[in-house]
Amino acid sequence: MLYCKSNPVKWLDYTGLKSIRPGDGTPLPGFATLQQTSDWWCCLKAQLLGLSDGNWGGVVCCDGRKVVCNWRPDEGGGANPDPTLKWCDKNLYDKCIREHEEIHKADCACEQTAPGSVSRCAIPPDKHLDSELRGHAREMECIAGVDCSASPDPSRCGEVKKKYHAETLVEYLKYLLNPLNSHATARP
Ligand SMILES: [Zn+2]
Repeated sequence: MLYCKSNPVKWLDYTGLKSIRPGDGTPLPGFATLQQTSDWWCCLKAQLLGLSDGNWGGVVCCDGRKVVCNWRPDEGGGANPDPTLKWCDKNLYDKCIREHEEIHKADCACEQTAPGSVSRCAIPPDKHLDSELRGHAREMECIAGVDCSASPDPSRCGEVKKKYHAETLVEYLKYLLNPLNSHATARP
């Protein structure tokens, strides 16, 4: 389990709804400013329809437009907000999950384009492994590039960063070593 993810004291957002927010970390919009076409609304609809499917991030097709969503549960809030966790959420998870999903955004296609429709953006099966390998590689680069000296608690930041990087590497290796991986089976 990830360090931030496995902190039960902070696990107060059972529905995961608090986590839905624009990827740039701006506050949730009020209803007056809520636009049906906003990324925020697209990601909320996708989550309510169950399209997040437990994933921390994903690309959805919303009115035929590709939108990167971040559905990761927010463990930075609660009764005793921890500034280190907030920093870690924003600079490690939000940023690096988004960079991973940006890779998929380029590889996926929107099948449904009807107004108001929301679906997951589909990666063609023959591109899937390659897209995941590049997504995880980009995510690891992003994690490695995070400057912990800017964190409220640099040593804890370093610890979280190391664990997150190691977990992402494991995921990367699972795709790389997948027996169905075309990289492994396409040899003549
Ligand atoms: Zn992925």
